[in-house]
Amino acid sequence: MRFGTSLVHNGYDFDKATGALGVPVYQTSTFHQIDLDAAQEYDYSRSGNPTRKALEEAIALLEGGARGYAFASGIAAVASVLGIFSAGDHIITAEDIYGGSYRLFNDFFKRWRLEHTAVDASNLDAVKAALKPNTKALFLETPSNPLLKITDLKPCFDFAHERGLISIVDNTFMTPYLQRPLELGCDIVIHSATKFLGGHSDVIFGLAVTKTEELGRRVYRVQNSFGAVPGPWDIFLVLRGLKTLKVRMDESEKTARKLALFLREHKNVSAVYYPALEGHEGREAHARQASGGGAVLSFKTDTTERARHFLKTVRLAACAVSLGGVETIASYPVRMSHAAIPPAERARLGITDTLIRISCGLEDADDLIEDFDNALA
Ligand SMILES: *Cc1c(COP(=O)(O)O)cnc(C)c1O
Repeated sequence: MRFGTSLVHNGYDFDKATGALGVPVYQTSTFHQIDLDAAQEYDYSRSGNPTRKALEEAIALLEGGARGYAFASGIAAVASVLGIFSAGDHIITAEDIYGGSYRLFNDFFKRWRLEHTAVDASNLDAVKAALKPNTKALFLETPSNPLLKITDLKPCFDFAHERGLISIVDNTFMTPYLQRPLELGCDIVIHSATKFLGGHSDVIFGLAVTKTEELGRRVYRVQNSFGAVPGPWDIFLVLRGLKTLKVRMDESEKTARKLALFLREHKNVSAVYYPALEGHEGREAHARQASGGGAVLSFKTDTTERARHFLKTVRLAACAVSLGGVETIASYPVRMSHAAIPPAERARLGITDTLIRISCGLEDADDLIEDFDNALA
């Protein structure tokens, strides 16, 4: 099956008991134990639930992994995957991972003595130089937020294998439709399904997929112990969102490309960042490991005043955090996702007061272009 077909026929064609095409929402905490002496697949919904299982199997299939796990949020998925490590372990991370993931490393897990070193992961030598005797994993995210920086994944995975490290990729921006890190040698993929997989800005949700059964058992133990599991109605929303991932992504990506080209020519725009744009740093590596540029781009206006004016004046894009919904969203990293980073560090990373990030939705591209043109005037 090709990808679009697997989204619809993802191992669950209909309910065996009734023929229903939709996955039943098993809104139950517990299960009657029919035979006390026989093992039963379900006994308590934290440990397992049939609605959750349908989605966990679907995401494992789509990412090409052995096992999938669902969580109450993307950050719960990250925290639960990090829960497979122990005090005294060390993890190498990209320096521009999602802010909430950075906080988990830098605040929460630090107190549990899980060490980490943040490096510019687009530089393989920097990744290698961060290796310590107690290094156990490599945690990456590409394209990164908000400047869409590219990490060449394959050489990083090869290095991880050589050194016996577990490689982990946050694949939220690309989704398995455009990028499947497990096929390139990655061990664990994580998603904030709040974004493109859910796709409708109506649910907070996380997923993780392991390449092997053995890693799957380790993640499952944390899923069941931490208990950061989603409820069945949220699972229903993600199952429904997934079916249309390909058509949404195709359309939003076309718009992102048009907007990127429009912005690049605009006299009040000084820079455009989009992984598939000619001249974007790392574009070749991105093209090797992903089959499209995705739906997120960012740009810098000529002045701070213009960036703020744009955000106040733009009508079709919501001025908000988050991304990956059917609505176009404009966000202002210095005041939103990256507000907690000290200004000097922000400047070093290139996150300026003139930077705006756009997640393209499903509006007509020409309406967005007219609206942006007006707001940039
Ligand atoms: C949003 C996001 C997360 C966190 O997910 P939540 O669902 O908000 O908890 C993690 N990684 C990336 C890349 C994200 O965009």
